[in-house]
Amino acid sequence: MNTIPSLPINRIAVKLKPSAERMVKKQHPWVFQNSISKQSMEGKAGDLAIIYDAKKNKFLACGLLDPDSPIRIKLLQFATPKTIDAEWFADTIKSAMHKRKSLLTTDTNSYRILFGENDHMPGFIADVYADVLVIKLYSHIWFPYLDTIVCNLIEITKAKSVVLRMSRLLQSKGETFDLQDGQLLYGTLKNEVILFREHGVVFSANVIHGHKTGYFLDHRHNRKRVGGMSKNKTVLDIFSYAGGFSVHALAGGAKAVTSLDISQQALASAQDNAKLNTHSGTHHIMVADAFEGLAQLISEKKKFDIVVIDPPSFAKRESEILRAKQSYARLAKLGVQMVAPSGILVLASCSSRVTAEEFFEISESELYRSGRNFNSIDKTYHDSDHPIAFPEGAYLKCGYYQMDTE
Ligand code: SAH
Repeated sequence: MNTIPSLPINRIAVKLKPSAERMVKKQHPWVFQNSISKQSMEGKAGDLAIIYDAKKNKFLACGLLDPDSPIRIKLLQFATPKTIDAEWFADTIKSAMHKRKSLLTTDTNSYRILFGENDHMPGFIADVYADVLVIKLYSHIWFPYLDTIVCNLIEITKAKSVVLRMSRLLQSKGETFDLQDGQLLYGTLKNEVILFREHGVVFSANVIHGHKTGYFLDHRHNRKRVGGMSKNKTVLDIFSYAGGFSVHALAGGAKAVTSLDISQQALASAQDNAKLNTHSGTHHIMVADAFEGLAQLISEKKKFDIVVIDPPSFAKRESEILRAKQSYARLAKLGVQMVAPSGILVLASCSSRVTAEEFFEISESELYRSGRNFNSIDKTYHDSDHPIAFPEGAYLKCGYYQMDTE
């Protein structure tokens, strides 16, 4: 591994305004630009920022400086001073691996080994698909450390190839050291489509051109659960993407599954993924906007035993929150009309700006309004390879509703 010229790292002493200092003491990983009261030098992306208590001058935390981001310092280490070196990265990755240990005793060889801030590596995501590791970077701060981290990741995960993905923002501004999105950093890749297992069900991910790192691992436990309830049932999977829920349902013995997505390409991979597993149920695909598709299915009086609605994030920014909430309400309202008598509705949200409480409240108000009795069977959050270390780290929530209860 020798992708990046070795870069000198500056050490910058920083002091914060009182409210920000309180957040750091609570181990919140973000320091905003306007909360810095003193900074010993300007610095560049990836320089080490060491935060000292404003009054007592003692070490509080250290992190990496991100001069172009409103989140100016991304914190790695709290309370106890430690050198951020190869050993620190090895320890951090080993402790992340430890948290995934029980998941890896299941028939699963795809997992998120590093979940950004939640694993002490802000803006750094790493997913494993069989023996391919896919890194997705969201910040320039990681370039000076990339070689060291990749070497450690290879050793700990035993990956045979490493692919680099970069966020659009990262690609559009600042120095990227001639690295390209989709570049192979290590090993070889015969095919950009990688086969992997999720609780015994086989999937494929395009690690070079797929969304994010190629697949969404976060719903694994929910998909397994839907698979487990699908025997001889009819299932509707709205926003199916590559068929996460649909394929588990088919593998679980569903009679018929309909996958609906606006993307023809996503549905083609859902079909390919279904074919990777033995199943006797039928798989229909429907290319449509979810809201229009649901309205059409309602007008055709179609009903399904299980309806799953797992949309993309509707609130990528603050200004979209209200609309996002309205969209969740519309989806719950439309979705409940699709559920057959005594069927199950599964509603999910991945917008971190809409809290779990708000989402469940919105969904359940619509279910009450439908006039049908229902029971909330369960509410679930992230799978174990997506640990949550701070409030903004929590984005996924999923409600299971049994309809027409007494
Ligand atoms: N449920 C999936 C993940 C969904 S990702 C899983 O378990 O893996 C979100 C999906 O929503 C993407 O595939 C995207 O193509 C699709 N999408 C976005 N906007 C849409 C719309 N208006 N109607 C239907 N699908 C949409």
